[in-house]
Parts: sequence; C-alpha cells; structure tokens
Amino acid sequence: MVLVVGDPAIASGDPAPTVADARATCRFCATPLRDVFADLGMSPVANDNVPLARDNAMEPFFPLCALVCSQCFLVQLAPFETPKPLFRADYAYFSSYSSSWLDHCRRYTEQMVARLGLGASSHVVELASNDGYLLQYFMQRGIPVLGVEPTANTARVALEKGIPTRVEFWGEQTARVIAAEDGRADLLLGNNVLAHVPDVNDFVAGMKVALKEGGTITIEFPHLLTLIELNQWDTIYHEHYSYLSFGTVGRLFEAHGLRLFDVQELPTHGGSLRIFGCHEDDPRAPSAAADELLARERAAGLEDLRTYLEYGDRVIEDKRRILTFLIELKRAGNSIAGYGAAAKGNTLLNYCGIGRDVLDFTCDANPHKQSHVLPGTHIPILAPEAIRERRPDIVLILPWNIKDEIMQQLSYIREWGGRFAARSPELRLFE
Ligand SMILES: [Zn+2]
Repeated sequence: MVLVVGDPAIASGDPAPTVADARATCRFCATPLRDVFADLGMSPVANDNVPLARDNAMEPFFPLCALVCSQCFLVQLAPFETPKPLFRADYAYFSSYSSSWLDHCRRYTEQMVARLGLGASSHVVELASNDGYLLQYFMQRGIPVLGVEPTANTARVALEKGIPTRVEFWGEQTARVIAAEDGRADLLLGNNVLAHVPDVNDFVAGMKVALKEGGTITIEFPHLLTLIELNQWDTIYHEHYSYLSFGTVGRLFEAHGLRLFDVQELPTHGGSLRIFGCHEDDPRAPSAAADELLARERAAGLEDLRTYLEYGDRVIEDKRRILTFLIELKRAGNSIAGYGAAAKGNTLLNYCGIGRDVLDFTCDANPHKQSHVLPGTHIPILAPEAIRERRPDIVLILPWNIKDEIMQQLSYIREWGGRFAARSPELRLFE
C-alpha cells in the first residue's frame, strides 16, 4: 500500500512509512523509490500560517524529503502521514492579488488567441482555475470558457464574476463527465497545478479525454533544471509533490497518448516552462525549442541519476552559508525583518532553523496573512507599513523571485541606511 496525504488508513493507526520504506513507489512509473534528492528534515505545512490566538498551540510537522525515481527521473516528495486533509479549504491565496501575474495571464491570452485562432466557437478549459484570474481575459474576447477548481470558496468568487466553473478535482473520471456535458477543449490549460497533484497519471489521462482532435494543451510549471542550477531548494514544500523536467513530462504525456511539441521558457517563479501538448497523432512537428531544451537537459545531466544524488550536498552547504551570513549580521548588531509570508520562505526558515531570534517579524501585503505567525518558526506577520515604523537595518526578502519588485516598493529603507538581503542564488546583501 502506498500512503498518500489524507489517507484514511493513517487515521486508523496504520504505521507510518519512512524514506527507506520499500512500499514508496514512483507516482508516475511505480518503480520503488530509494534515492534521495534533498532531505529538508521535518517541516510544518508551508502555507498553514498560525492565527495569533493559536500561538501557544501544538503544531504538526511532517517529513519534507524529495526523492528521485531511478527510472523516469521524476523528483517527488516521499510519502508522509497526515491525520487530516493536509491543505485547508479556506486557503488564503487568490491568484488575483498579484498584478505582475495578471499581466502574465493577459499576455498569454493574447498569444494563444493569435496562435490558435480562437473565437466564439472555441472552447477553453482551465484546470485549477482559481477565482477566474485567467479565464476572465478569454471571456472578454467572447471565447467560451470553463474553469475546473477544487476549492469551493475560490470557485465561488469566479462564479460571482460570471465565469462558468465546476467545483471538481481533475482526473479521468471528471474529464469524462465534462467532455460529455460541456464538450472537449480546443485549449486545455493548467498553470502551476501539475506539480501539485498527487496522482499525475490520472491528471494527464483526464487531459487526453478532454482534449478535442487538433486541440492544444499548455501547462506551466517551475523547471527542475533551474531548481538544480540555481539551487532553489526552498521551492520544495509539502503541497508541491513533483519537480518536473521537460524530459520527464514528455514521458508522462507519451504514456497517455499525448506528446509535447513546443516549449517556452518563462521567468515566473524563478524559471518556469510553458509546455505545449497535443494528441500523439497530431501532425504538428516538434519545434526547434523543444529539441534544444531536451538536449540541454541531457547535457546538464538530468538523464543521469548521479546529478540528482549530488544535489543534497549542495543544499546542506547552502544552509551552512545562510546561517553564517545571518549570524554575522546579528553579531554586528543589525536588526533584521523579513518580507513575504510565502511557501518558499517557510521552507528556508524551517530547514535552517531561523526563528524570532534572527528575524524580528516578516510582512506581507495580503491582509489574510496578517494577524498570524509563520508556521513552525512563529515569526509574526505584519502589514508592510511595519518596515517604515520599525526601521530594520536589513530586510530579508523571502520570495526572491520577485525581489526586484519588492526592492523598488521598499526603496525608502535607504533613508535610514537599511539594506536588502535575498538569495540570488546565494544569500547576499544588496546595497
Ligand atoms: Zn518513475
């Protein structure tokens, strides 16, 4: 038996698996998993900010360990036990809060409409459509859309905006119902969702079912090659089950009667791919960009197990460097505040053991996150105005992927000689 999050067997007292558990098998190809990519110890769920009133309560920690499959090279979290559904329904994140992300979606819509010649007779389906942040742009152009979103409260926001949305988890079964009732898709898309689904086979099998003949799939996900090359181990967290390369996603598609024919490299999340998929018998030939990226991944060692096994040592060394850097700043008498209350910041703080003894507080513009403390470290989350009031010597930017934007917003810290610190890729100061 393979244990997955929310498995009711756990609640009834089954023994928990460990990394060495021979029952842990690859989410894609079912090969037993034995090889560790990065072991980040025990960590609370990254987005599970703790309300101030619960600051003195018990808090669950789970193993956070990424393994690699020796056959298909899918990097994936080791199974871990959990006594309740891991990810809360009242999840505080709405995509619509970030203006740079909305620009990204608007440009994507323009590009797809032009490239695929979409119009009033087309059908666009988005998986994990959130509050309709993206589909709204297709609707503005008179293109029929359908969102599929498992979180009821986010789906409700989309419905209130008039965006047709079904509250469903995506998989082959859901796809059959939707294909029969709403029709198959000319464009089937999913942004930052493939890495977050436990059963990647069921997810892609559903895409095969719901895609029209001649239709196009686009999926965006953070690129494993960038994670390795730029040492972005802090993007590993519990909701992020898989860490994907172009080569591995290509194999996953081929296993379900689909194939990849093009790719674009994007700066989002510190380095993402937008892959283009179609039915296996589609006449579109693989693009030069697709061939070139496959060759580059191979040259970087992504088809060689040793590349993955060596990665863990770099993570450990990076932790030592980060701690030395922060300890030296503290010994020199600096006050340090954080900026951001996002998943990747929590992985970094918990893995490195950085608490209130180093960071006085962090801040976040999302009002849902304020009046909370960060999980594990219990660093208070305040409104960004706290920076101006408390005048910290150093602002440690946790979401390094948007550090330029944040440095611009907070440029006033230079009035009192404040400096920024961020990973780029090593943690360093920005004068
Ligand atoms: Zn595998």
